[in-house]
Amino acid sequence: MTRRVVILGGGVTGLAAAYRLRRTVPSPDDLAITLVERRSRLGGSIGTERHEGYLIESGVDSFFTLTATAVELSGMLGLRGRLQGPAHRRVYVARRGRLVPLPEGLALLTTPRLGPMVRSSLLSLRGKARLAVEPLVPARREQKDESLASFVRRRLGREALERIADPLVAGIHAGDPEQLSMSSLLPQFLAYEREHGSVFRGLQAAARSRPVRDPTLPGPFASFPNGMSELVNALVAQTPDVAWRPGTRALAIERGRPGSFEIPLDDGSALRSEAVLLTTPAPVSARLLEKLEPKLADALHAIPYASSAVISLAFPADACRPLDGSGLLVPRTEGVHLKACTWVSSKFEGRAPSGHVLLRAFYGGVREASVLDRPDDALADLAVQELTPLLGLRGPPEFARVHRWQNAHPQYDVDHAERVATIESARTTVPGLFLAGSAYRGIGVPACIEDADRAARGVSSFLSTEALVPMEAAA
Ligand SMILES: Cc1cc2nc3c(=O)[nH]c(=O)nc-3n(C[C@H](O)[C@H](O)[C@H](O)COP(=O)(O)OP(=O)(O)OC[C@H]3O[C@@H](n4cnc5c(N)ncnc54)[C@H](O)[C@@H]3O)c2cc1C
Repeated sequence: MTRRVVILGGGVTGLAAAYRLRRTVPSPDDLAITLVERRSRLGGSIGTERHEGYLIESGVDSFFTLTATAVELSGMLGLRGRLQGPAHRRVYVARRGRLVPLPEGLALLTTPRLGPMVRSSLLSLRGKARLAVEPLVPARREQKDESLASFVRRRLGREALERIADPLVAGIHAGDPEQLSMSSLLPQFLAYEREHGSVFRGLQAAARSRPVRDPTLPGPFASFPNGMSELVNALVAQTPDVAWRPGTRALAIERGRPGSFEIPLDDGSALRSEAVLLTTPAPVSARLLEKLEPKLADALHAIPYASSAVISLAFPADACRPLDGSGLLVPRTEGVHLKACTWVSSKFEGRAPSGHVLLRAFYGGVREASVLDRPDDALADLAVQELTPLLGLRGPPEFARVHRWQNAHPQYDVDHAERVATIESARTTVPGLFLAGSAYRGIGVPACIEDADRAARGVSSFLSTEALVPMEAAA
């Protein structure tokens, strides 16, 4: 008998799950896979566009290579040789309107040794002195989760929070460090404190025991010469016999015949399947499940989301200061709306025609939601205005492209792990229902691929059980 699975959401999680499932159950006679995606294109937050010789990423622009999943998947797809590392790695931080390089060897919050931090002009003498006493700060005994801001202030001091952790970590998550969960986002730093009594000692021990880095990896983060869509295109091309349904929105998940789900779609049709994997953002999944499992829907609604806008700006190279890095971060204390700017054409080769540069400015996030109320033109003008003093811009951009990401950044706030545990226990009351994606166990592309693998294993083992339990009986 052919078993059926419907995957909702065609972002990297849904695509990687389809790919793994097809490899696990290769024959479409045994497993029929349908993937439903609301947008007319597949890829979700990954989308590469070409415009007048520029290569523009509308969302995701690269992925970390330190965790192996995305690199391994690239290898399986035959893309290992196409991994493209950064041409420039230096990152700057805005400090009183000027650009100061982030200390070399920075591991998100600090460097393993004090030297680079002491030499950096990012911190004041007082800030450096505070950092230097970190090994003497007693370890926290309480096991309860705490916020990123609380941890960094407690261990490394207020300046390290304001000038490094806030723009770097909170910037990646479009979040508020006073709310973000330390145990969900940076558990390794909690372990350093617990096991070594100090972040510095923990980082040094980790550096000593770290396996030798694969010298063939192009750098700590990577993309592809034709942008992140290479990954999406390869996943689709190498996952045969899937009924791809882009441009179709799932409206709900309902109980069908015993042991099956019914999924009405916005084109008036409905899908039936024995298993459903939701990779849609948590609030969407919550709405889809409201009638089927209200408790699960409530738990999913508890994960907050933030919105952002990515503004791509093209300039003649001589209308901008030389870009000798991969970008800049802007601490909140600078008093501007701009969060960060990637220097796309110096970060990766081949992103702009010769003699031109491409920049990517980030706006929005939890603390800056209202700036996104501005129309596209006004947002682009704001980006040019705020970047001008930092990059010495002269004249208007050749073009500006604005991509908006409405409720696209899940927030791992304090006690996120408890929320995910509640979701998981409610999910298991509905046999055949699976959840994966950036809302739960990790936000970046590698974590989403790992979560897709986990969910694909769950689906395949559920469908291979001889007697599927009818949902009514299990509910
Ligand atoms: C602007 C931006 C920049 C980012 N940059 C990076 C980066 O550089 N590196 C990195 O590692 N991570 C980055 N991330 C995080 C990145 O989004 C995740 O790592 C990953 O791409 C999320 O994939 P996903 O499949 O879980 O979700 P998504 O990509 O959000 O996919 C979910 C899909 O569900 C679809 N959908 C919604 N409702 C329905 C419905 N009713 N029916 C059917 N389909 C529906 C959506 O259209 C969407 O395509 C970025 C995120 C954003 C928003």
